[in-house]
Amino acid sequence: MRHVAIVGSGPAGYYTAETLQKADDIAIDVIDRLPVPYGLIRTGVAPDHQSIKAVSRRYEGTALTDNVRFVGHVSVGSDVTIDELVGLYDAVVLATGAPNDRPLDIAGADLPGVIGSAAFVGWYNGHPDFADLTPPLDAPGVAVIGNGNVALDVARILAKTPQEFGGSDIVAHARDALAHSAVRHIQILGRRGPHQIAMTPKELGELGHLERASPRVDPADLPDAGDDAMLEPGMRKSVTHLRQFAANPVAKPVTIDFDFFAMPVAIEGDGRAERVIVERTRLDADLRSHGTGETYAVDAGLIISCIGYQTPPIPGVPYEHGRGRFASDEGRILPGLYAVGWARRGPSGTIGTNKPDGARIGEMILEDIGRGAGRAGRPGLDALLASRNIAPVTFRDWRRIEEAEVAAALDGRPREKFTSIEAMLAAIGR
Ligand code: NAP
Repeated sequence: MRHVAIVGSGPAGYYTAETLQKADDIAIDVIDRLPVPYGLIRTGVAPDHQSIKAVSRRYEGTALTDNVRFVGHVSVGSDVTIDELVGLYDAVVLATGAPNDRPLDIAGADLPGVIGSAAFVGWYNGHPDFADLTPPLDAPGVAVIGNGNVALDVARILAKTPQEFGGSDIVAHARDALAHSAVRHIQILGRRGPHQIAMTPKELGELGHLERASPRVDPADLPDAGDDAMLEPGMRKSVTHLRQFAANPVAKPVTIDFDFFAMPVAIEGDGRAERVIVERTRLDADLRSHGTGETYAVDAGLIISCIGYQTPPIPGVPYEHGRGRFASDEGRILPGLYAVGWARRGPSGTIGTNKPDGARIGEMILEDIGRGAGRAGRPGLDALLASRNIAPVTFRDWRRIEEAEVAAALDGRPREKFTSIEAMLAAIGR
């Protein structure tokens, strides 16, 4: 029997398990520190994007196969160490994603009211780590830093009416706070220009269909229309949306302004964030941004940096600090230790990008471990956890938690998520 442990039950973890479980004589344990599976699908993908979240049904199919087991509420690092796992299993895969915000390294970034997207997204998605965030929504201005899809998610969630959350699984605390929000001006700050955005067309197009909010683009920021021909098709579509926003400004009570060539250089305020100081930029021949010295202030009581994520390092595991991911040779970190998904390649690509990634790492592992080395594997982990009085949450337990979340949902919502580990465990009588 061959034994594989996958740390992290998000897309990269389950796509890896999906490939591995097709092999003979293999037992796969998917370990997660939360009592609930699916990682980014549950706590990262926007609550109003239920069609993307539906991919979890596929992971459920993998989780329910005989040779795959969910080991929930077990923290690798404290309940069990990486070294112990490497000793127990033929292969250990780090599918831990990139849950930490890349730091916003400017003066005033530590003021109350400055929040990273991991925290803000975790808050509206009910991640237990961020349920108590209470982002200040009492001022009309919000600055969203970054020109990627996360910036779009954040701006859209801030702009929506309670009715527009119908059918979503946004959690009650966020739904209520947003319903009483004073936010009227959302400024998306991009340090480069419209041709350098990292926003995909579908997500950008959504901003044009909001009930009470309208996107605005300054036509002067757009390059000559002829220049769009050199863009790849997806980017061209995204830029076409920006052109439409610029050509058809619509007057609605909430504005979402795209501020290009705008680099935040400081955050100021008396005891809390009140404004971002922004420096105008210009691009060099390599399309890198440089400050021009011209600055201006954007009033904002809430500032959300959406500038990318990083994987937290684990002592003893090689790490690339510059890129915020584990150091690996195409996924091989050390003998018996692998990385997959964002933990391997950094925070880029869509959920689907993890599918070929998981398949490749799965095949690599099958090749590397051969028939297995007769390790203790699953029974070994069970004995170790039992000796520490740790009772993992099983997939069957998770389904009871899920049933309780579905049963608690009102008004056509798919589920009302538990937002604390205690409440999740209480649902299974612990
Ligand atoms: P991202 O796509 O890498 O975008 C990060 C943005 O932050 C870029 O515009 C970048 O600008 C900017 N930035 C970085 N450092 C900065 C700094 N110090 N100051 C100002 N701006 C800075 O990251 P993301 O938005 O977090 O998304 C992560 C991944 O998840 C992406 O692959 C994204 O497509 C995916 N995602 C997909 C969906 C969806 O499909 N619906 C939703 C959410 C996320 P430069 O280009 O100048 O570096």
